[in-house]
Amino acid sequence: MTTPTIELKPSASPLSDAEREAILANPGFGRHFTDHMVTIKWTEGRGWHDAQLVPYAPISLDPATMVLHYAQEIFEGLKAYRQPDGTVATFRPEKNAERFQRSAHRLGMPELPVETFIEACDVLVQQDEAWVPAHGGEESLYLRPFMIATEVGLGVKPANEYLFLVIASPAGAYFPGGVKPVSIWLSEDRVRAVPGGMGDAKTGGNYAASLLAQAEAATKGCDQVCYLDAVEHTWVEELGGMNLYFVYGDRIVTPTLTGSILEGVTRDSLLAVARDLGYTSEEGRVSVDQWQRDSENGTLTEVFACGTAAVITPVGTVKRASAEWQQSGGEPGEVTLRLRRALLDIQRGTAEDKHGWMHKL
Ligand code: PMP
Repeated sequence: MTTPTIELKPSASPLSDAEREAILANPGFGRHFTDHMVTIKWTEGRGWHDAQLVPYAPISLDPATMVLHYAQEIFEGLKAYRQPDGTVATFRPEKNAERFQRSAHRLGMPELPVETFIEACDVLVQQDEAWVPAHGGEESLYLRPFMIATEVGLGVKPANEYLFLVIASPAGAYFPGGVKPVSIWLSEDRVRAVPGGMGDAKTGGNYAASLLAQAEAATKGCDQVCYLDAVEHTWVEELGGMNLYFVYGDRIVTPTLTGSILEGVTRDSLLAVARDLGYTSEEGRVSVDQWQRDSENGTLTEVFACGTAAVITPVGTVKRASAEWQQSGGEPGEVTLRLRRALLDIQRGTAEDKHGWMHKL
């Protein structure tokens, strides 16, 4: 089955330049959406069809649509950055496309071809190019591809119809006032994902499962939750929406993928960027006790979180039920800031793209 090319049906009434510029002056995150979206349908026996770029608008769903009941849903997140020459490029979209296929497989959904995923993102960014913030700062256009089960019915089974969409939202700088460390609540009872579960799929249910723990973290005065493995409650996994790195001098370590950790594109990129900068980078197991001990004895020099939204976020205060400590004196560490700058420079086109990560439109 082949995939149809995307038919362009642009809006007759996009926002005016003045309205769009007013939004771009203070976009925040995920609050405003561009003028268009891409939609592609999948039907059993027919495959992918009716690929369209259409005006951004609400979608109408029957109350018995399967996704509303059994959460057969997956999504992705990637960014388009304005380059110094005024063109636009996305960062490693094929990695997101491949992860979207793995998520689809895990949720019993059809796998969208990698080239169709990338084409859908490209067509939307090209149409709404004026929404990509200017070069210079850390602003970007965040792309949100997602897919839902659209068959109507209450039987629990994989649906026979799906809708894939891409929407886009301008994203402001994550740290407008300068990079600030986040505080972390180490959750030793609630878990995010279990072995054999869906932790390595990007599906809404994982985020619903994280909200109560996140609310508890807030009552402890913390910004984010760090989840441990679900069996021994010992091994550090990740945050609700970011992977973690531990810095031991010039060696950086990120938890090994266990099946219950999401394989972040930023995490993968940093393994390489760190080597480019002369650091040693590796995957390994880090226990919560080791984290506390090495932080207190000074061998663990920095800790940071990473993901598409914030790129790299330093970790400052860490709290668990039995203890509280400050990482790096509560200040962003030197390795953290250097890696952050190096990756952002590649994304914004001011450093050599030696790995061929930028997808130019
Ligand atoms: N872990 C989780 C649970 C996430 O939601 C994300 C964000 N996609 C990440 C890690 C970081 O992944 P990426 O670097 O691909 O954004």
